[in-house]
Amino acid sequence: MNKMTNLAPSKLAYVPFVSVDNMMKLIHHIGIKPMLRDLAEAITEDFARWDSFDKTPRIGSHSDVGVIELMPTSDGELYGFKYVNGHPKNMAEGLQTVTAFGLLADVDSGYPVLLSEMTMLTAMRTAAMSAVATKALARPDARMMAMIGNGAQSEFQSLALQAVCGIDTVRLYDIDPAATAKAMANLAGSGLTLIPCKTIEEVIEGADIITTATADKDMQTILTDNLVGAGVHINAIGGDCPGKTELHRDIVARSSVFVEYPPQTRIEGEIQQMDPDHPVTELWKVLTGKATGRSSVAEVTLFDGVGFAIEDFSALRYIHSKIKGTDFYLDLDFVADPDDPRDLFGMLQRAG
Ligand code: NAD
Repeated sequence: MNKMTNLAPSKLAYVPFVSVDNMMKLIHHIGIKPMLRDLAEAITEDFARWDSFDKTPRIGSHSDVGVIELMPTSDGELYGFKYVNGHPKNMAEGLQTVTAFGLLADVDSGYPVLLSEMTMLTAMRTAAMSAVATKALARPDARMMAMIGNGAQSEFQSLALQAVCGIDTVRLYDIDPAATAKAMANLAGSGLTLIPCKTIEEVIEGADIITTATADKDMQTILTDNLVGAGVHINAIGGDCPGKTELHRDIVARSSVFVEYPPQTRIEGEIQQMDPDHPVTELWKVLTGKATGRSSVAEVTLFDGVGFAIEDFSALRYIHSKIKGTDFYLDLDFVADPDDPRDLFGMLQRAG
């Protein structure tokens, strides 16, 4: 039996489509924190079978104001890709900085098996990814995070670290106090202790974990070396594009750097500031015990997260497994499927 018939028993040509509305319903149905935990687990499972995936740096189309990227991968059974943009100027125009959608296909037939919105799902998976890295690299007693950049990703990041890593306090800072106020309001009732901060110096005070999720189409120095104390774990997720970084290079030089897929991170991550052979450890190796993560309490660990295709694949296959037997998708008439596969033209003619 074709796998697709599980999802669309009536007609193979119909492809399940998860709209933004249905994604939000599904997230609430599962629960935000349980789903963040599930996604962290799905990513961990897929990182553990790293060698079974096709891997390539994502393909970016750059303009003066942003980037549009395609992120493909396959495990030999399923193929997935995400379309994603990054346009820091959008926010001031009332648009999202990051929007995305993705597709999963059956490698055996090449037919799509899922089309999904991925703006919400990217925020969920990016947060889950930070949680996976933090759990592997932060000191086990880390409880307080500094969240720098309080835009679209920030609440997701905070909740994922609470759900997966057990943090209990988030200090928040953004150059725009309205963003901090928004995040504070959204996170009220989360069980997290929230501390709004007015300066970068204030936000990092006592923080065991620093997460940067700022957006600027430029090399920024959100954090300077003197601000980062011993033993801190940093998730730098906003520097994710050539010419777009967040940390002073001295921090990168002083940290043990962990990455998703080096050929992509060397182009897009904080390490684009460093020599092309700057030493990095692949996170999947830490997760599978093939490499050491944190080696001392005083070490500064840096997850130079740029977002890699396997994480989106994990998120899509998770959604694919969760919508079976639910109302959280629509059947899209997405693939032409004539009764006689060679008679595509006849199908068109009859439709006239
Ligand atoms: P957003 O535009 O909604 O929020 C960005 C926030 O950063 C804004 O509130 C802005 O005021 C603030 N900011 C800008 N410069 C700052 C500074 N110097 N100090 C403090 N705050 C500052 O964007 P978003 O959707 O939250 O995304 C944040 C970043 O994360 C973007 O750069 C995006 O490309 C990146 N991102 C990375 C991944 C990944 O997988 N690594 C995934 C999604 C988004």
